[in-house]
Amino acid sequence: ERTDFGAARWAGHTSNPTPGGPPPVTPKPGESGGAPKVPFTFGTVHLSGLDAAGDLYACTSTSGLSYKIPGRAGDTPIVGAGIYTDNDTGSAGCTGRGEAALQSCAAYETVRLMEEGRGPVESALEALKRIAKHTREKRLLAAQGRPSFNVTIYALRKDGALGSASMHEGYTYIAHRHAKTTLEKCAFVFPKG
Ligand code: ASP
Repeated sequence: ERTDFGAARWAGHTSNPTPGGPPPVTPKPGESGGAPKVPFTFGTVHLSGLDAAGDLYACTSTSGLSYKIPGRAGDTPIVGAGIYTDNDTGSAGCTGRGEAALQSCAAYETVRLMEEGRGPVESALEALKRIAKHTREKRLLAAQGRPSFNVTIYALRKDGALGSASMHEGYTYIAHRHAKTTLEKCAFVFPKG
């Protein structure tokens, strides 16, 4: 049995067992009301890159997101949703609420907009607005009809222009240009407050 998944290994259990200790306690139906004893873990990473030969590449990691419905795949491994690269145009990927990225084909939409000639940030913002427009379930809406969740889109164009945008203000991303690595602020659809 693998033991290298950290706390996420025990997501869905009410106890976090130690090696050799008692087995994890799994909640029975209807017992899910109590506070979880396992912390909420998340942290998907997307990387889009352009190599020295001018070819684009990308990967999006799965995050070990806690408390997923068994069998849920999310957007991360779905080409077009959490990741999409067209070597003629650009590359994009998403983190955040996977269902929203899936519903709006967010990574594909971002690359498609870059194909139309838009910049990476503008394309990411447009794709996020499309997600906001598609969000109609009340439980997913906060004040002023804004999505209550975040999605961040990372975009890189074939000419090396890059950027990122998130649904809400306050997110950052890492840019690596030539030998320089910088922490940058994501553009955003909805400002704080
Ligand atoms: N996008 C991931 C998912 O929905 C979660 C994440 O970005 O942490 O599975």
